[in-house]
Amino acid sequence: MRADDEQRSGTSVPPVKVVDFHQAPTYLRRPYILHGYRVGGTRRMALAALFYELNNETLNAWTMILGIIYSTWRFWTVLIDTARAEVHISFLILWFAAASHVGFSIALHAFIGISEAERVVFRTLDVVMLQQSIFLKGVAFCLALPVPGWFLTFYVFGVVVVLMYSFYTCTIRNRIWTIPKPELARHMQYITFGYLLPLWTYAALNIGGLTLVASITFLIWFGGAVLYAKHYPERLWPGVFDCVASSHILMHLVAQSVHVLEYRFLDRALADVPK
Ligand SMILES: [Zn+2]
Repeated sequence: MRADDEQRSGTSVPPVKVVDFHQAPTYLRRPYILHGYRVGGTRRMALAALFYELNNETLNAWTMILGIIYSTWRFWTVLIDTARAEVHISFLILWFAAASHVGFSIALHAFIGISEAERVVFRTLDVVMLQQSIFLKGVAFCLALPVPGWFLTFYVFGVVVVLMYSFYTCTIRNRIWTIPKPELARHMQYITFGYLLPLWTYAALNIGGLTLVASITFLIWFGGAVLYAKHYPERLWPGVFDCVASSHILMHLVAQSVHVLEYRFLDRALADVPK
């Protein structure tokens, strides 16, 4: 165990420690993750630590940081490369979907060890913003695809059903910050499938060249969700993947690779729109 207490004379800031599973507060413990729990400190210290410390949340934050850098670069190249306003709007919504959520995810992973109160605030914001982010992606794809009226009617109906279920899960059945991990994973699958599956299916059937992109996206999404919900790979070798390749870090990587494919999806969909 490593315990680099920071002496902070005259302040009431809890000392920073990176501890093992059994020394970590209960709310922080993750199944099969045995080491690397960062506990204590302030938000400023937690952000600084992203640059010099590898704990079991560091790569969770960095996968999100690198994802939004990629996303911003892609959006920027679209702005430079094309003058068509409808292209700009679709890509702007896709970019905003990612940008509006990313800060809360980074904050959650950086600050989670400070206190349980930090976790409650940022997990709530993270889940809510993730939901609106997936919803916004649905809007971006609807705008990019030449979908007929009957499709939009079914689509909106599906989105409303999922939204109502989402409200039930997050408010009546649970407090949003107490949702257990498998339930949250399942919940995100419903939202994703409710918002995005109809659009990807429509695109795969109607837009030339999108079948492959749509299929790969779903395989990656599905595989990532299963790994995350079932705690793979750490349940096979507890303690080995704590800080570098735990199911949570892999789930972030999956989400970012899907985001790369979402840009490809919009590229293809908008290339087929009659000018
Ligand atoms: Zn996360």
